[in-house]
Amino acid sequence: MALTERILLGPGPSNPYPEATAGLAAPLLGHLDPEFIALLERACDRLRGLWGTANPLTLPLSGTGSIGMEAAFANTVRPGDVAVVAVNGLFGERMCAVAARYGAQVVRVEHAWGSPVDVDRVLAAHPSPVIVAAVHAETSTGAVSDIAALGTAVRARSADTLLVVDCVTSLGGMELELDAWGVDIAYAGTQKCLGVAPGLAPFTFSERAWARRVPDPPVWYLDLGLLGAYVRGGPGGRTYHHTAPVALVASLGAALERIAAEGMPTVAERHRAAGARLQEGLRELDLELFAAEGHRLPQLTSVRVPDDVDSAKVRERLLAEYGIEIGAGVGAYAASVWRIGLMGHNARLDRAELALAALRRVLGR
Ligand code: PLP
Repeated sequence: MALTERILLGPGPSNPYPEATAGLAAPLLGHLDPEFIALLERACDRLRGLWGTANPLTLPLSGTGSIGMEAAFANTVRPGDVAVVAVNGLFGERMCAVAARYGAQVVRVEHAWGSPVDVDRVLAAHPSPVIVAAVHAETSTGAVSDIAALGTAVRARSADTLLVVDCVTSLGGMELELDAWGVDIAYAGTQKCLGVAPGLAPFTFSERAWARRVPDPPVWYLDLGLLGAYVRGGPGGRTYHHTAPVALVASLGAALERIAAEGMPTVAERHRAAGARLQEGLRELDLELFAAEGHRLPQLTSVRVPDDVDSAKVRERLLAEYGIEIGAGVGAYAASVWRIGLMGHNARLDRAELALAALRRVLGR
């Protein structure tokens, strides 16, 4: 069985996760079938619950997490607009690249990889940006940033600035309160803590963002005016925009129902406990954690590869001998950091113990 995400601990043949494909295996519905529309609307409602938002424009976009990033900037950037972007890893870097494609004047706020976003420095970077953007859970480094603090600071200064947050690795793994935090636009992916197939980007867009949106964005496919009419129904009713990927929406819907049944606080606690155990066990193995202490994601643990160890060989052996897949580092840290995911159904104590036992064996510790 395929992994839902490369950096998840792999299920392996003896440990299948039928939940990951539950919705995919359901009978296919037509994309305009009332049953499918009801399923989509229910999924949008569930997403509002997980985001902690009342935003009417909340929907799964067709495409992976990056399409959410693309839609966020495509619908808000006018050429020359200032976008302050916090860069503390690969995905903050990607936000700069995407915002620049739409003509933003990007003001980068550089951080050491592995550290959280520094709210004061982001605020000091420009007095009146149109957009402030940051990544909540930096998958490339394992660092979590305090979006509540960032949102409070941005809102205290201006009601006009739009706050864009990447929640690809936090949605479904951590409790989110976007409205209370003052976040206008957020996007996620399905293959991380939601634990299903990649291919959708849960997305939410506030009324404030709607009032300031670009009316005619350069990308037809991501025009929220058109997409909104399809999902919400415009004055003339629901208007066809593109064929929704029905199997993926069904799969997302099944994941959201599972999370609702378990309860998001319980799901978040399961992620927290599994990550805490993994990080404690890695320290017991004399390994050094990479992300800054106090700012470590439970669902994605980054750890330094010991100097005398071949990173790729260890990863190969974990996969071949134990059916466990962990990620390499990113960019400058490709060979010197491992990233171990405990997301979705893998966020359990037994998965953490299994990873630790296998790593102990392979490292001969
Ligand atoms: N943002 C973050 C924080 C991510 O971890 C990822 C993917 O890993 C992305 C954006 C891009 O998502 P995708 O690869 O699904 O397009």
